[in-house]
Amino acid sequence: MKQPNILLIYTGGTIGMIEDYESKALRPFDFESIENQVPELKKIEVNIESISFDKPIDSSDIRIEDWIEIARIIEANYSKYDGFVILHGSDTMSYTASALSFMLKSLTKPVILTGSQLPIGTIRTDGKENLITSIEIAAAQKDGKPIVPEVCIYFEFNLYRGNRTSKVNSEDFEAFNSFNYPFLAEAGVTIKYNTNSVHYRSNERLEIVTQLESNVTILKLFPGITQKMVEAIFNIPGLRGVVLETFGSGNATTQDWFLSELKKAQDNEIVILNVTQCIAGSVVQGKYDTSSKFNDLGIVSGKDITTEAAITKLMYVLAKYKSMEEVKLKLSESLAGEMTL
Ligand code: ASP
Repeated sequence: MKQPNILLIYTGGTIGMIEDYESKALRPFDFESIENQVPELKKIEVNIESISFDKPIDSSDIRIEDWIEIARIIEANYSKYDGFVILHGSDTMSYTASALSFMLKSLTKPVILTGSQLPIGTIRTDGKENLITSIEIAAAQKDGKPIVPEVCIYFEFNLYRGNRTSKVNSEDFEAFNSFNYPFLAEAGVTIKYNTNSVHYRSNERLEIVTQLESNVTILKLFPGITQKMVEAIFNIPGLRGVVLETFGSGNATTQDWFLSELKKAQDNEIVILNVTQCIAGSVVQGKYDTSSKFNDLGIVSGKDITTEAAITKLMYVLAKYKSMEEVKLKLSESLAGEMTL
């Protein structure tokens, strides 16, 4: 039987870091060193090739340009490989996974992001298992078709839909969770796939998006926030979209100044997407008095979307659609399985 072909894309992150001799800080190093640390890779019945960012980065340095580079690498190698594994720092992995879910349109092959909390060269590393199982998942097929043809994150025995995840722990090996969507697979003695929750497309052609709007921001509300602060955000020159992180099921202060700032933003064609600060659950505009004005003000409910998916969705939708109506309509739709309707 023909062995699957997998492309590893190394962007950086702890998985490939070493301790700087002098400063003792962790910094990324080259990909060959990772391969040398995992001799098991040679035993997997998969053809693995790799490509690396010229200069691997800590994921806190990731930029829109890097997402475009990843999308271009996948596009250029799409027909040659059965699946892709992206090695990436965990800090911003949920943002990258969310962005790629919108940028890789009509994806029909697995794109699995993984990394680790401890460098792969350390004895107790979580990187080996994460890497080996991600490769296995990217290569997994049933009846000649990939089992998980989505942008996913694999970390510490769980496979998640990428745009449903958040990094929830900076120390535990179980660093991610996906509170509003089931796991796509769990790895134990065998890998159990939850195929009922996987999205399958019939043979479509990959199309990549390389335009993202960078004039967007996140405004997190807190009790005591002042008009000056909100006004300053909405007056950022060129601003086109704001993810408004509200309380509970999408609630915010009902003070007149706040509602008038929202009204002014709407008049200035700034799109506002309402997302809850809670780690699980959904925005329901109008459930409480404290969100009842939002629908009239043209604020879009993000329902159960994560902040990571919301900001990248805004970048994608604002770059693609010009009229406010179209932008709001698209934000209300689930474009890549990022929200429950
Ligand atoms: N700071 C690292 C990064 O995101 C953390 C990690 O890799 O887990 O690149």
